[in-house]
Amino acid sequence: MKIWRFASWGLGVQSTWMIILSAIGKLPPIDAAIVADTQWERRKTQETLRFYKKWFEDHGIKVKIVTAGNIRQIGADAHIHIPFWTNSGGPLIRQCTNHFKITPIRREMRRLAGFHKSKHPHPKPGQFENWIGFSWDEWHRMKENQTKFIMNRYPLLEMKINRWDCEKGYLQMGLPIPVKSACIGCPYRDALSWFDIKQNEPEEFQDAIEFDERNRHNPLVERDGSTADEIFVWRGLIPLKDVDFETLSKKQNIDVQPPLFVCAGEVCWI
Ligand code: SF4
Repeated sequence: MKIWRFASWGLGVQSTWMIILSAIGKLPPIDAAIVADTQWERRKTQETLRFYKKWFEDHGIKVKIVTAGNIRQIGADAHIHIPFWTNSGGPLIRQCTNHFKITPIRREMRRLAGFHKSKHPHPKPGQFENWIGFSWDEWHRMKENQTKFIMNRYPLLEMKINRWDCEKGYLQMGLPIPVKSACIGCPYRDALSWFDIKQNEPEEFQDAIEFDERNRHNPLVERDGSTADEIFVWRGLIPLKDVDFETLSKKQNIDVQPPLFVCAGEVCWI
């Protein structure tokens, strides 16, 4: 039985490094690296995609880009997929990772391997390896895949490689280090990251502000069972335009990762 090896490429430091290791023979070859494009990534992340897509293809790695549409346009439209913070306590349920990333990637795996969802034969249990770029410092994010024919693998974890080892690797190879990847208006973004966007990409920040304002009283919230009458992109329940990210980011340790407990999906924030 052929085992298909796919890498979920989240466009961040670790998942990109994992694929580089495969390209240079430090990890086994993969059948494809698959990116789920939410069409609302930062300019810097789009540059990462352009640069490394070519680099990977030059090194013999097939890259596939899939999408479930533009998350900014449809992520809170007919249904709220995005985990906005609510004034009734906690965030809304996060459904975006599954809808915009996991499902399109899984569909592409099937397609590349020549299996159809409604026709026999179906893939055997464990026939697809899904490589996820969690590093040694992210061991607590590991979990089994809910789909029987997909086995999650964590090659960086297996090699005890942490985030800082990855960054060292980029520097040694003279390759650009990706920024943390996430949708521009992701409610899991921390103060440091917001401050970076505000300072360096004012158009992206303005875009997130408009998204935040537009959804403040989104009537779909009620349909999702929440009693909140206001929802926010910033966890502090303050409109993005009014948050003092400079002060908040000074308080934040520069090495702290985003709060991983709230983003357990395999292709967000890696
Ligand atoms: S980055 Fe944030 S908004 Fe985008 S899919 Fe992941 S959790 Fe959702």
